[in-house]
Amino acid sequence: MKWSRFVHAFPLLGILWHAIKLEKMRIDPGVISAFLREGQVNENSLGVATYAQLTSRGYIVEESENPEECLRNVAIRGVKGLQSMYLILTTLCNLRCSYCLYGSTQSGSLAPHKGRIMSDDVAREAISLFGRETVVNDRSQPDYWECITFYGGEPFINFPVLQKSVDYVRRLQRAGEIWHNVQFVVNTNGTLLTQETVRLIQEETIEVQVSIDGPEQIHNQVRMLHSGQGSFKSTIAGLKMMHSLGVDFVPLITVTEANMDCLAEFVGWLCEKFSIRQYGLNLLMHTNGLVDQTYGRRAADAIRKAHIASNAFGATDKSYGTAMDAFSTRVVAQKSCGAGKKIVVFPQGELHVCQALEGSGSTAMGELPRFNHQSPNLLQWQQRNRFSNQTCLDCPAIGGCQGGCGASGYNATGDVCGIDPNYCNWMKAEFHHWIKNET
Ligand code: SF4
Ligand code: SF4
Repeated sequence: MKWSRFVHAFPLLGILWHAIKLEKMRIDPGVISAFLREGQVNENSLGVATYAQLTSRGYIVEESENPEECLRNVAIRGVKGLQSMYLILTTLCNLRCSYCLYGSTQSGSLAPHKGRIMSDDVAREAISLFGRETVVNDRSQPDYWECITFYGGEPFINFPVLQKSVDYVRRLQRAGEIWHNVQFVVNTNGTLLTQETVRLIQEETIEVQVSIDGPEQIHNQVRMLHSGQGSFKSTIAGLKMMHSLGVDFVPLITVTEANMDCLAEFVGWLCEKFSIRQYGLNLLMHTNGLVDQTYGRRAADAIRKAHIASNAFGATDKSYGTAMDAFSTRVVAQKSCGAGKKIVVFPQGELHVCQALEGSGSTAMGELPRFNHQSPNLLQWQQRNRFSNQTCLDCPAIGGCQGGCGASGYNATGDVCGIDPNYCNWMKAEFHHWIKNET
């Protein structure tokens, strides 16, 4: 018999932790010492009762057990097949944000000569493809979802095609060629919203995700118009318009050095002013090592404080909530990166696994109208999984970890299966905070 690979000792807390069962076991310090010192299981030194308990709870396992076998018993939920499509309506944007994912060399999508606009024909072709690909899914599974995201650049620059795309989806739904419950999302900087765009959002129940990064001075440091002027006033005007018309929106805040110290206060302000029910906090992507090693840990503190502030208003943070839920509900987290389950369509009909690495060669998978299920890039991204990464298998946070962003991992390591350092540091900091406070 041997110790399970997923057992970790926390001597100061007096516990053994099973990272896959998400279970902690308070135990005699002698057992912890034996675990740390001997590496091998010694039934005599553990005592018969403790040995039996550790064996029955999976802390001690058969010599022949290997992690892959163990993981077959772990419930990884989810549906096989594609569930999401990103329509890159344009690569043009009226802002020049300092951390834009299109700005990295691995993306290159922002390069001026690449300012592209999707045509109505390409959008229709893409939506038809999405219908054909998703119709084979098992939609009876609990929590099944499908989603079409309008993305850019700034998608409202190409509002006519956005509008026609929604009309086309409705037509296919009536014909039974697209799922009746498919959700729409638009990811915007909020500066180009008008009465007309908000009316469509309202009538078609489109989830609006608006990027906003802090109070005026802070937001304007990172989210500028081409003139160099800050975009805060235009974004807030858009938010006020939606709020006055009773349209909910989801603020997306990227956690930067500039806003970390005031994140909780700012999230509280948004909740109070706009009756926010949900918000999202994004970590910076790794681009060429620009982020300090301590960023993840400091972001964890800031995100936790924001979570507490938003709780007072009944609002929830998607990312923080799901990560912490896994530890307390003891259900192994699903990976959060959609690459492998979505098709990203760039304006000329180029198909990619993810929107952030267009220039890298690691995400391309052909062009419309054909979708190649055997595309080597797609197959590689579908392999991206923390359970096949040796470093992750030794990590105490693996059960709650959602794996981070593959593009960020690629930027950091040159490998799509590489670890996203910002997410990883954040996750570990959150895990250590949780286990200390839960014990
Ligand atoms: S990505 Fe980091 S936190 Fe997540 S399992 Fe791997 S090593 Fe652990
Ligand atoms: S790798 Fe995944 S999480 Fe990162 S940008 Fe692409 S789809 Fe999104």
